[in-house]
Amino acid sequence: MDRICIDELKIFAHHGVFEHENINGQNFYVNAVLYVDTEKAGLTDELEHSVDYGMVCGVIKEAMTQKTYKLIEAAAQAVAVAVLKSSPLIVRTDIEIRKPEAPIDMEFGSVSVKISRSWHTALIALGSNIGDSKSIIAEAVKKIEQNEYIRNIKQSSLIVTKPYGYTEQGDFLNGALMCETVLSPHGLLDLMHGIENEAGRTREIHWGPRTLDLDLIFYDKNIISEPDLTVPHPDMQNRDFVLRPAAELMPDYVHPVLGCKVSELLERLNEK
Ligand code: ADP
Ligand code: MG
Repeated sequence: MDRICIDELKIFAHHGVFEHENINGQNFYVNAVLYVDTEKAGLTDELEHSVDYGMVCGVIKEAMTQKTYKLIEAAAQAVAVAVLKSSPLIVRTDIEIRKPEAPIDMEFGSVSVKISRSWHTALIALGSNIGDSKSIIAEAVKKIEQNEYIRNIKQSSLIVTKPYGYTEQGDFLNGALMCETVLSPHGLLDLMHGIENEAGRTREIHWGPRTLDLDLIFYDKNIISEPDLTVPHPDMQNRDFVLRPAAELMPDYVHPVLGCKVSELLERLNEK
């Protein structure tokens, strides 16, 4: 993809682990790569079809100076997210922060961190069958919506469903939400677990009653098979209470393992 590059933007800031760094400050240098499709701007010669790099330099300066971080990792994270949010045309950014005056008692050129961040599309299934399920789900959706690493949330309708697996329990309220996030799959899973815990979730019976269950169903077209995370969710094609809300939000998404659309998975399950 096309790239717009900002090199060696000099910013005086106070990031560092040592107190003297926070008090005195030092020079940091930021390199930013913005991934933008510039074809339309190239054909029309109109700025509105591209990204104003002057504006982005201002955004970087603001993110570098509004808060003091111990780590340049944290400063880079804040800069990357601010850059991604500064224009809908920026789909990915690479941020490098260099710290040539870092307190190291040796001769060196510079120390730096380099990170890449982009928007990813995720589908999260929502479920609850203890307490005021409607409010519990609404509260969870609000927390996801307000998270600084998430944007463009779309929520499905909520449906009442019969329990699955362990049937000696009350009916469920289920739904799904689709969003864009700069978090990695594991970063998103940690956020979801935090919200489950805040809703008073305990894990006693597998598939048992729960105040809140948040499952990661899809993350872009990624296929993940790790001890603590399987994506696409391995049982989603057998669960009407996942497929119905999913089909409402993304009927044409092609399941990266099964190779068919969500709407087709729902039809197949209904035929069974
Ligand atoms: P279930 O949703 O199957 O009833 P839990 O909500 O108790 O089970 O989740 C148990 C574990 O499943 C979590 O700690 C998590 O690490 C793991 N897990 C694996 N893949 C996923 C996924 N796609 N979404 C959510 N959790 C997952
Ligand atoms: Mg779960």
